[in-house]
Amino acid sequence: MKLRRPLVAGNWKMNGLKASVAEFTRIVEGCDGPLAAEVDLMVCPPATLLSAFVAAAAGSDVAIGGQDCHAKPCGAHTGDIAAEMLADAGARAVIVGHSERRCDHGETDAQVRAKAEAARRAGLVAIVCVGETRAEREAGQALDIVRGQLAGSVPDGATGAGLIVAYEPVWAIGTGLTPTNEDIAEVHAALRAALNARFGSEGEAIRLLYGGSVKAENAGEILAVPDVDGALCGGASLKAEAFLAIARSY
Ligand code: PGA
Repeated sequence: MKLRRPLVAGNWKMNGLKASVAEFTRIVEGCDGPLAAEVDLMVCPPATLLSAFVAAAAGSDVAIGGQDCHAKPCGAHTGDIAAEMLADAGARAVIVGHSERRCDHGETDAQVRAKAEAARRAGLVAIVCVGETRAEREAGQALDIVRGQLAGSVPDGATGAGLIVAYEPVWAIGTGLTPTNEDIAEVHAALRAALNARFGSEGEAIRLLYGGSVKAENAGEILAVPDVDGALCGGASLKAEAFLAIARSY
């Protein structure tokens, strides 16, 4: 048995209307016993569809996650969502520090870490995202950048049950570009070493996902890269057929 159970997670981002519940239901229906035996499946819809997806996934092996949370408990924060609200709606996890949040909303490592702590207080698994820009990769800084983001964004006391890390190179997200398998392996090895050094045997249990232009055609080879424990998919998770094909690549 593998030390870490594979996870294929879908990030729907700012996509999905009520009519999309039917497409998600096809994912739930496709997550049959044999697939669920091999891999964990999760979908993170926009907050407006969270309850509908939780209802559609009831009794299945598909988990539901949020895409972001506020660092503070419920209170006067117009437009924000507390981690406890996501948990109350039936989410089991929440993505924090996605590069679209870091870039579009100026989120810092310290803020991401505070959100991951809020997730833990609410009983949610935090999926902490890290990843370098194109310029940083070209300057040979990719490893330093992701190690720094990991150190700054992951709270103390992280465990395999409470934390997942996603390596998502910013330049690979939504572009159709992916790093070479060697580059993915190098970054994942560095992240794995950092987690093991900081958290010991609990670090060993923390899953490391790759994200950025994962699709059915490249999932098999990416998921076979050493230290890759699964995938975080954006665009390809919006269509049941594509998302299930990625999960079946295991
Ligand atoms: P993508 O997005 O699969 O559309 O590249 C991945 C992500 O941002 O999580």
